[in-house]
Amino acid sequence: QLRFAASLSRLGTESAFTVLARANALAAEGHDIVNLGIGQPDFPTPPHIVEAGIAALRDGHHGYTPANGIPALREAVAADLARRHGAEVDPGHVVAVPGGKPTMFFAMLMFGEPGAEILYPDPGFPIYGSAIAYSGATAVPYPLSETLGHAPEAEAILSRITDRTRLIVVNSPGNPTGGVMPKAEIDALVAGLAKHPHVAILSDEIYSQMLYGGREHVSLLRYPEIRDRLILLDGWSKTYAMTGWRLGYAVWPEAAVDHVTRLCINDHSCVNASAQYAGLAALTGPQDAVAEMVAAFDRRRIVTVEALNALPGVSCADPGGAFYAFADIRGTGLTSMDAQTLFLEEAGVATVAGTSFGANGEGFLRISYANSEANISKAIERIGAVLAAR
Ligand code: PLP
Repeated sequence: QLRFAASLSRLGTESAFTVLARANALAAEGHDIVNLGIGQPDFPTPPHIVEAGIAALRDGHHGYTPANGIPALREAVAADLARRHGAEVDPGHVVAVPGGKPTMFFAMLMFGEPGAEILYPDPGFPIYGSAIAYSGATAVPYPLSETLGHAPEAEAILSRITDRTRLIVVNSPGNPTGGVMPKAEIDALVAGLAKHPHVAILSDEIYSQMLYGGREHVSLLRYPEIRDRLILLDGWSKTYAMTGWRLGYAVWPEAAVDHVTRLCINDHSCVNASAQYAGLAALTGPQDAVAEMVAAFDRRRIVTVEALNALPGVSCADPGGAFYAFADIRGTGLTSMDAQTLFLEEAGVATVAGTSFGANGEGFLRISYANSEANISKAIERIGAVLAAR
């Protein structure tokens, strides 16, 4: 009998992967499955980025790099953040890691321990709650409501801060809701945080370039008053369709840079070198491919929301960012999990139950529109047929 650590029982998972496994199994049996469950762009990585990765391998970049990333990459990140957010960032505070997730995990390990509290959005990315619990800290969910299109609300966060709060997690544009925090709400959050100088902020801005309908992304980097306690997470996975390359970064407060670098050295030494060179090409090369992908997501978003709103018992608010629609299915009488199962098994459409993102997601379904317009229309029509037959 192996004696695993008790802490493992606190570690959760991401159920989008479970849905994906079932969808793949059904497809392997010959069923026609449309995947609206997955959280990654369906586009390939733009060719000039792929070429840069290949060239790096050909040019002999086969060894370890500095643990925090090659200097050119960190400088390019700082230049990109200056261009997009008008914020001055010291490249020495940028730490490249294998994807967006390691930053979350390291932040939770850095601030979390028994007795500490960490606030995170519900519904929200499932890894937040999982990593908080794993650290031994108490995971304190704050609700996202329809009032603000399921974006984080300053008061919902501020009212839950205690002496024990070490870190708050904010995610905008958000997964699973597509909610975008308006500037006024961010202003209110930052103003309120002045009363809680002991609280650090993890701002997950991985969808920062996926905005629609004239919405603006206001990065927390724009607020100098919180820079000494802000961890700004962003990366390449979604923006440049690079989920499989495993490359991401965060800008850390000065006081945390050594800690996170030691975590990197203990965990993975460095991100694989060719991925870093590919990431460098992504930031310094033409950005047209990003604009084209965002324009395609916007068209799909409109198709998705219109089709969802035509379904009996379903309504869907207009998502402002990311590539998810968060459909309200309460009018169907189905629970989120029942809908997820019914739509996958009977309609051949993979979606993810809102409850996979927290208890507050009950009555909702996450529909990823990272799929073709034709597939989206076909999938939602098939869901409609299943609902009509009940
Ligand atoms: N943050 C959010 C909100 C996400 O939705 C995701 C991926 O789904 C990530 C971070 C992680 O991205 P990565 O694949 O780069 O680890």
